[in-house]
Amino acid sequence: MNIAINVGGDSENTMSAIANDLFRPMDVKGVYARTAKYEKIIEALGALVSRHRDPDAEIYRFPPVMSRRQVEKSGYLLSFPHLLGCVCCLHGSEDEIRQALDCSADGGDWTDWLSAADLVLSPAACYPIYPVAAEKGPVPAEGLHFDVAADCFRREPSNDLDRLQSFRMREFVRIGSPEQIMEFREGWMARALALAESLGLPARLDLANDPFFGRGGQLMAASQVQQSLKFELLIPIHSAERPTACMSFNYHLDHFGDAWGIRHPTGKSAHSGCVAFGMDRLAVALFRTHGLTLEDWPEGVRKVLGI
Ligand code: ATP
Ligand code: ZN
Ligand code: MG
Repeated sequence: MNIAINVGGDSENTMSAIANDLFRPMDVKGVYARTAKYEKIIEALGALVSRHRDPDAEIYRFPPVMSRRQVEKSGYLLSFPHLLGCVCCLHGSEDEIRQALDCSADGGDWTDWLSAADLVLSPAACYPIYPVAAEKGPVPAEGLHFDVAADCFRREPSNDLDRLQSFRMREFVRIGSPEQIMEFREGWMARALALAESLGLPARLDLANDPFFGRGGQLMAASQVQQSLKFELLIPIHSAERPTACMSFNYHLDHFGDAWGIRHPTGKSAHSGCVAFGMDRLAVALFRTHGLTLEDWPEGVRKVLGI
């Protein structure tokens, strides 16, 4: 397919045209109301991803919040405390809550009365699946497949349409032996390139690392790269020189198996991996590449999306 992308000096204008047509601001950076045209593409992408689901996959759709205890136990708090959002509520008696409101009415700050609830905002779609998998008992020899999705939150406010605080993530998760995870991940890296091509998106794969917190985090990031644990599918949105990660392909070794006691038939901790689709980034990449008029999108792309 012939891919024509224009990510030159007009990038800023194009991005603001996309913002005006597809999003409405909601007062806070990186949080948007989405228009019907945009959601049509999100839905079409979702259906396309579903067509590539493993027939054995168990499907779960998670709410935008999850257990604080589970996120702590998964290690997310230690690795990414700077990105995590925690739900806080007014927990006191009626009198105490009234005090908070009175304080606010007097120009004070009601949020001084908040305390943390047992919930955090889900930082990724796959975190809640590992305790679910652990509940199932030992992993069968053929391993496990899951299809999960959630509205995710990360505290990274930005004016960029491809870096939101609240965004949709879809994931395929594989749990099993190291060989099963590697095969799953390799297969998906090839499939993702083919999918991007069928969508007319100029994509490439690259090794990546996560933004681990603090100085210790730099070591973790280096080790992640050294062990090739994370790859990303990169697509130009702002510029061809600095393309945006629209999917990631992650190998967790036995991190989650160990944390949650997910056992392989050998008695060892199971390994796991996930393939994450950044649904909002993929949708923005489509509009960035093909323009704002769906009728003008290449016929092949419209056919693949069923629009
Ligand atoms: P980046 O390096 O761009 O911050 P990431 O490594 O944090 O991405 P992952 O943790 O692998 O991303 O999340 C899976 C996918 O979710 C990403 O490939 C991306 O498409 C999407 N995603 C991550 N963070 C955001 C965000 N702030 N806004 C929109 N989509 C996001
Ligand atoms: Zn994941
Ligand atoms: Mg990130």
